[in-house]
Amino acid sequence: MPIDKEYLPGEVETRWIRRWADAGLFRGDPTAGKDPFCMVIPPPNITGNLHIGHVLVYTLHDVVARWQRMQGKDVLWLPGTDHAGIATQMVVERALKAEGTSRTEIGREAFEQRVWEWKEKYGNRITDALKNLGSSCDWSRERFTLDEGLSRAVRTVFVRLYDEGLIYRGRYIVNWCPGCHTAISDLETVHETEQGALYTIRYPAAGDGDNALELATTRPETLLGDTAIAVHPDDERYRNRIGGRVIVPLVNREVEIVADDFVDPEFGTGVVKITPGHDPNDFEAGRRHGLEEILVIGPDGKMTAAAGEAYAGLDRHEARVRVVADLEAAGLLVSVDTHEHAVGHCQRCGETVEPLVSRQWFVKVGPLAEPAISAIEQGTTEFVPATWSKVYFGWMRNIHDWCISRQLWWGHRIPAWYCDACGTTLVREEDPTGCEDCGGELRQDEDVLDTWFSSGLWPFSTMGWPDETSDLAHYYPTQLLITGHDIIFFWVARMLMMGLKFRDDVPFDKVYIHGLVRDAQGQKMSKSKGNTIDPQEVQERYGTDAVRFTMSILAAPGNDIPLAPERMEGYRAFANKLWNATRFVLLKTGVKGPSKWDPGELTLADRWIVSTFRTTLASVDRHLESFRFDHAADTLYHFVWGDFCDWYIELSKPGLQAEADPRRAEVTRSVLLTVLSGLLRILHPMMPFITEELWEKLPGCDGFAAVAAWPSREHYAEDAEAVGQMKLLQQTVVKIRRLRAESRIDAGKRILVLLHADDREVSSMLAEQRELIAGLVRAESVSVVDFVDHDLVAARGLAAGVQIALPLEGLLDFDAERERIGKELAKVDKELTARNRKLANQAFTSRAPAEVVDKERALQDELALRKERLQKNLANLGST
Ligand SMILES: [Zn+2]
Ligand SMILES: [Zn+2]
Repeated sequence: MPIDKEYLPGEVETRWIRRWADAGLFRGDPTAGKDPFCMVIPPPNITGNLHIGHVLVYTLHDVVARWQRMQGKDVLWLPGTDHAGIATQMVVERALKAEGTSRTEIGREAFEQRVWEWKEKYGNRITDALKNLGSSCDWSRERFTLDEGLSRAVRTVFVRLYDEGLIYRGRYIVNWCPGCHTAISDLETVHETEQGALYTIRYPAAGDGDNALELATTRPETLLGDTAIAVHPDDERYRNRIGGRVIVPLVNREVEIVADDFVDPEFGTGVVKITPGHDPNDFEAGRRHGLEEILVIGPDGKMTAAAGEAYAGLDRHEARVRVVADLEAAGLLVSVDTHEHAVGHCQRCGETVEPLVSRQWFVKVGPLAEPAISAIEQGTTEFVPATWSKVYFGWMRNIHDWCISRQLWWGHRIPAWYCDACGTTLVREEDPTGCEDCGGELRQDEDVLDTWFSSGLWPFSTMGWPDETSDLAHYYPTQLLITGHDIIFFWVARMLMMGLKFRDDVPFDKVYIHGLVRDAQGQKMSKSKGNTIDPQEVQERYGTDAVRFTMSILAAPGNDIPLAPERMEGYRAFANKLWNATRFVLLKTGVKGPSKWDPGELTLADRWIVSTFRTTLASVDRHLESFRFDHAADTLYHFVWGDFCDWYIELSKPGLQAEADPRRAEVTRSVLLTVLSGLLRILHPMMPFITEELWEKLPGCDGFAAVAAWPSREHYAEDAEAVGQMKLLQQTVVKIRRLRAESRIDAGKRILVLLHADDREVSSMLAEQRELIAGLVRAESVSVVDFVDHDLVAARGLAAGVQIALPLEGLLDFDAERERIGKELAKVDKELTARNRKLANQAFTSRAPAEVVDKERALQDELALRKERLQKNLANLGST
């Protein structure tokens, strides 16, 4: 098959994506009688655009999937997307706003319709991008968290947990976004440090006396909802005040002074206000002390009637200004100090998040968390790197009930119905038609479920649960989950809890936690900093394989990954190198596949490359098994670029050209083809496109590389002797090349090489390989000698115990060369003397900046080295 002069990734990628899909290579088949290897994708949001972080995650998934498939496993990489409740709803709401309408105006049904339309139109941008990366997902099993099957799984789980008392409705403090009008998760809350104020306020004592207490707060408007103040039980300053009462300013409510460990005596005055309705810590404290939860800020961000007539209806920000002014007028504002503190903002709309108590649905997680903790303790599921299990335990052992209701329209609507006539609540898998108690009319709960509720079921809901499908039987539990550390709690922990609860088994054997991609300086990538990398752009510029290889070689586990685009440039060159080497092989070897050889027919170089391939294969396997994608890629890089392209291709030339010895030519061909076919396969998981393209052209390779058998070590004989001898030869050759360059011998000139080794064996090996060495250094002849004449005018060197001499007679004009070296030597010497003097001067070394002194020292070293080399070259020319 003809091969282009140049590798053109764009055209090749498009073609193979289509051909792989047409051939159905990536379809899981539970009936195939093979061991399963299954991964479910972390479902990207349908609103998402592929960013460079995705490229990392999906590349690692695909490397594992392809590697396992080539090992003969029945691989299922199950793809899908998440409906992403709040994100998607916001996108469509923005579109409605631009049209001059709103979701409340068009109503729930029409709104949901609009979101589905949006999804049809834009929801596959992310999956299209995933396909363009070459991801070997089974698209016939693609799932969406809101599709029919998954919605049924969600209802089944909800109803079962409710029936067991593990789902309940109650009042609880949540992160509330007044902009989006919904409870949001901690993950959707972005904390930013802001310059704010710390207000110190005086709370007069109840009754008489002037025993007022002072306390500090950053949110003075919430004092309208105070139902206690607190001190630390061991704080001597306030010990006799515990149980006493103070008056909350402005609302004039008498409240108790309680003692509680959570108070930090070092903060402010050591006295804190307790506002159970609007602060998570105060909420917990309030529950401990049986305090009333008064809501003074409403879901719309405006002050409620409970805030008092003077403030009701005011926006919370205005209310703060008014409260501070009123405190000052009343003489109760002690001081206002500037204060840096973290403020939570809604990730979607940027509004300041308001913690508030509201009526929500919750999962009682305690009983679910216990088995999920012991699954990790006992190693049923393993974190890689293992240190992440500590983070996991930290969260799981302090777990709070999980608020699962969201005040949105896009998502799984909560399957609870209320009868206003008799007050009954029905929770059902199928929509009920009327009240079962009084026959009255029912009204369904308006809220939808947190998206993490459905993604928590992902490993089994995607396989057809609650039906007992053959996919579930074959693929659950899955073998591996690859994800980021930011969602260990939100996603990994929930999947573990739900899997153990509903499948009685963990959802995955291993969880590999990848690092986060950052810019070359280690900074977080963000649009505002302008340091993001657009995957599509770099794929087009460098080729997808180069991008994938970059991701693989940088993927050290658990670490942040600094990404410089120049790396991709380097791996594009790597792809080209492989292309050109294969092209050379194809042009030389014809169309016939490799034939068998006898071990005795191999040259040293053949034995060496075969053995080195075997070692490379073993390393790649070992590294991939331990998730060292970085080491595996590095090993491949050095084998392909160094051993194969730079050395073996050169070493094979004499054999290929041995016209007088057709058998030798045939063996060389066969070795080249055999090693290349192995190399293309082990490189395939990281660089699927170029390897597939070359595989198709390589004689003797059938079918697709994507489903070719992973090379077996038995086919590549180990040969420690050849490896040792080759290493010595390579060092010798490198040294000869260096001597040649240093002596300024014209590149076109053929040289004589004299070699001497004291060791008999080395000596005879060198003698046997004279022809090979000569070819590699463009030598007229290579002689192995008993000794090198002392008076010979030659460039001399030593490599791995081998003495090297390159006679210079006839290659250089000695006089001219001596003069040139002499001049250069004088110049270097002058510079070096100046440097030495400067660095001996205390006034300079003590006053100049450290980096300037370091630079001078480096220069000094370099000059000394150059002087030494010139003197040696001069000596090599002999005396006049
Ligand atoms: Zn918001
Ligand atoms: Zn009823």
